[in-house]
Amino acid sequence: MKEQLENLQSEALREIEAVTDSKVLQEIRVKYLGKKGSLTAILRGMGSLSPEERPVIGELANKVRERLEEALSERSEAIAAIEEERQLQAERLDIFLPGRKPKIGHAHPLQMVMEEIESIFLGMGFSIAEGPEVETDYYNFEALNLPKNHPARDMQDSLYITNEILLRTHTSPVQIRTMEKLYPNPIRIIAPGRVYRRDALDATHSPMFHQIEGLVVDEGITFADLKGVLTVFAKKLFGEDRQVRFRPSFFPFTEPSAEVDVSCACGGKGCRICKGSGWLEILGSGSVNPVVLKMANYDPERVSGFAFGMGVERIAILKYQINDIRVFFENDQRFLNQF
Ligand SMILES: [Zn+2]
Repeated sequence: MKEQLENLQSEALREIEAVTDSKVLQEIRVKYLGKKGSLTAILRGMGSLSPEERPVIGELANKVRERLEEALSERSEAIAAIEEERQLQAERLDIFLPGRKPKIGHAHPLQMVMEEIESIFLGMGFSIAEGPEVETDYYNFEALNLPKNHPARDMQDSLYITNEILLRTHTSPVQIRTMEKLYPNPIRIIAPGRVYRRDALDATHSPMFHQIEGLVVDEGITFADLKGVLTVFAKKLFGEDRQVRFRPSFFPFTEPSAEVDVSCACGGKGCRICKGSGWLEILGSGSVNPVVLKMANYDPERVSGFAFGMGVERIAILKYQINDIRVFFENDQRFLNQF
């Protein structure tokens, strides 16, 4: 038993001497002197000693305890000094280190495209109108000549909140709200904003995307005004050297309607971006259907108008030749830093 105590003492002293961390030192104290520590374990075995041996071992055990306590407190002071020094080193202020430059970001590429489109139309005398993203069925569909059960509603898988309230599937309700607000005055607005469809996210679809729609209502507005405004717009956005063409199409709230294409950067030779056609489809447009004007109280005999709409992601994809819509929403800096 004497030998056990001596071994314990030398082993403990060796460990204490090697420690440089106050937390580890505390662990060593518990390991040797704690209630479940090694020294206590040895003393528990004293019952098996002869009456002569007991006081001898008892005294030795006390000496070992004292010796360890002493070593622990000495080491504790030394460690405190070491730790203080360590902290001073860590906090040392190097006045010659160059400053850290704050990272300055920039607008998101979609925001940049949106602002560019806005500024072209603002330059042509349009103003910007906004409306709610949570919309009623009336403003989103019915007032746009899309009554319930109209087949064109199937083209837009909608996210309904109740039977009568949904996330707007296009920015067109802003046109109706603007007509109601500005009636009987002339209108020349664009409505940029987020819209929602029940689509899974893939390379060409996103359940949330951005649109910009435009509406002009006034006396004497003709299809020639539509062609003039949209031709100027397309050339300003894609380049004066581009050709613009209008193709007949169908939209429920315009009549007649036209898709607008701009010639591809490949010069009509055909490439990956235009899929060989030489043309890029950029927006839909048309003369405002008299039914829609009438629903907003305007007199179709007196005024006429035109409307157009485009997807901002699509414009950005064509402008920057991006092949996957998802990159706009992944917040990957390797992509964003290219703008
Ligand atoms: Zn091309």
